[in-house]
Amino acid sequence: MPVSHDVVPASLTSVPAPKVSTDAEISALRAKKAEEQRKESAEYERQQQAERKRAEQEYLKQANTVVVTPRGKKYHYDTCQTLKGSYREMTIAQARRKGYVPCKVCDPPAQTVTLENSGGLYWGDNVYSRGKQVLDVD
Ligand SMILES: [Zn+2]
Repeated sequence: MPVSHDVVPASLTSVPAPKVSTDAEISALRAKKAEEQRKESAEYERQQQAERKRAEQEYLKQANTVVVTPRGKKYHYDTCQTLKGSYREMTIAQARRKGYVPCKVCDPPAQTVTLENSGGLYWGDNVYSRGKQVLDVD
């Protein structure tokens, strides 16, 4: 049976012509690229915000944690040299409500530490340091 050479598979006849980008296509591609970059930087911004929020909360938690002893009338930093034996943690607000006053030796804050009254957190290159000043107002 003779093989027909007249029939060429359709796939060989429909090879597209070399693609030439038009100006419209190029600017559409550029717009798409710019949009992708905008999305990426928005996402980066969101991550930075989330990280900052987390760091602030961690800082405030630490800054407001003090310790009291079973018999003492004062609250302390847990590094206070006057601490002997057992102590337990609470927040400055809790300690004050229970009638504790700040220790004069380790000098913990006299009021709840907020970002505002502590000087806040300072950011640079993804690291932060906490403000030193705590206002003694209550
Ligand atoms: Zn103390």
